[in-house]
Amino acid sequence: MSTVGHLINGESITTAERTQDVFNPSTGEVNKQVALASKETVEEAIAAAQAAFPEWRNTPAAKRARIMFRFKQLLEENADKICAMIGEEHGKISHDAAGELTRGIENVEYACYAPELLKGEYSKNVGPEIDSWSEMQPLGVVAGITPFNFPAMVPLWMYPAAIVCGNCFVLKPSERDPSSTLFIAELLHEAGLPAGVMNVVNGDKEAVDTLLEDTRVKAVSFVGSTPIAEYIYTTATSNGKRCQALGGAKNHAIIMPDADMDNAVNQLLGAAFGSSGERCMALSVAVAVGDAAADALVSKMKEAMQPLKVGAFSDSSNDFGPVITEAAQHKVNGCIDSAEAQGATVVVDGRNPDVAGFAGGFFVGATLIDNVTPEMDSYKEEIFGPVLQVVRVDTMQEAMDLIDAHEYGNGTCIFTRDGEAARYFTDNIQVGMVGVNVPLPVPVSYHSFGGWKRSLFGDLHAYGPDAIKFYTRRKTITQRWPSAGVREGVSFSFPS
Ligand code: NAD
Repeated sequence: MSTVGHLINGESITTAERTQDVFNPSTGEVNKQVALASKETVEEAIAAAQAAFPEWRNTPAAKRARIMFRFKQLLEENADKICAMIGEEHGKISHDAAGELTRGIENVEYACYAPELLKGEYSKNVGPEIDSWSEMQPLGVVAGITPFNFPAMVPLWMYPAAIVCGNCFVLKPSERDPSSTLFIAELLHEAGLPAGVMNVVNGDKEAVDTLLEDTRVKAVSFVGSTPIAEYIYTTATSNGKRCQALGGAKNHAIIMPDADMDNAVNQLLGAAFGSSGERCMALSVAVAVGDAAADALVSKMKEAMQPLKVGAFSDSSNDFGPVITEAAQHKVNGCIDSAEAQGATVVVDGRNPDVAGFAGGFFVGATLIDNVTPEMDSYKEEIFGPVLQVVRVDTMQEAMDLIDAHEYGNGTCIFTRDGEAARYFTDNIQVGMVGVNVPLPVPVSYHSFGGWKRSLFGDLHAYGPDAIKFYTRRKTITQRWPSAGVREGVSFSFPS
């Protein structure tokens, strides 16, 4: 059985004291092992990054960007191979994996703007013969820790931007589906990146804690669940590091009585069940305003869900695949059990679907639950599975209050034909990413991605302009070259 190892100083390393099984969630079988880096191995990666930094920070931004142009091309050429790797370990169907990769490549395209993004600011004659400018200097060694649900895209949110800014990177991917992440980092070397600038260490808490504690690591970007995001943020910042830690979500869609219901249903299908609901932007709660809207929504959803196909990643006619682990399958089923036990109505039941030929796979079918209330456990927690819950309210304000009261604030959306209602909603809702008749309002790569409340710890969002700010620090230089013969006397006060 092969072992997925590390990439340190441009070299593949597969020896490991500890390993963990990597499953194919479509079959439930173990196909590979992943190496779990020891403290010493992570320290080796940090040392390689530290050693590469002086030369890399002085490499012109245009040259750094040129590597990203080649990297983009290699990602496109290897797309099928990458999507198959994602499918085998994550369970994503090829169309979904291709979408993830495209979003990742868009972040590489953004990194290609590096010379433009790093121009800084300049003011001539801020005083007599005095010029002043601000430079965006790299931080040094920076680290990324990423989740299982986007093994290609989320790492690409981080290191292309960090690297074109002149930093050197150590990435700790999810140990559940590490192969595509490692392969993509190898492509970056094929694109011409010098050894040591980008390093990948697979591992678990030991690897993460080493990155959080090592004083050579200047900044940490994290994406994952909220309890771990909070731990990462608190530990990294108390160790003097810059940190952005993106956490979990519970994204609500408001369905107004005037919404185009057929369109809303179509949009909700993809947004709730796409990628088996394992997206931090998945819409998992539909808040229907008024019983008429709720009844129409539930009956149309029920009908539209009948043809949905859950199945193995290898069949591209499937709409979505398995969830990531057997434990995740039990968790999602448990949330449906608990909603039912606490009084909700399971309208379409995805527990234990029959997937012919894949009896060992971790499948959950698309599930619709009506009459959910905010007191229910299934409403409070992030289910992270193909489950859409319907909450019924009487007014739009009640729907907004519900969203604002939830601990998470990642994404939300309103379905309506009323521009005034939509404008009030976008202006006032306490959520970081907001859609109007757009169910997954994921910002494009030249904006930035992040939630509010307990969906993000830190201030700067991921990728786009915020990433350039996160991965650089400002240095402002004030310079005077007095003309020959002109010398001012001593001054003991600011000029007035
Ligand atoms: P996770 O928190 O379990 O793991 C994320 C990373 O943290 C992994 O690399 C893992 O190895 C590491 N980790 C796990 N436990 C740790 C511990 N005790 N100490 C140190 N490190 C630890 O998350 P996941 O299950 O891989 O991903 C799903 C979660 O990520 C969901 O909650 C989802 O909403 C969230 N997510 C959020 C965003 C966002 O942008 N806000 C994007 C994608 C996923």
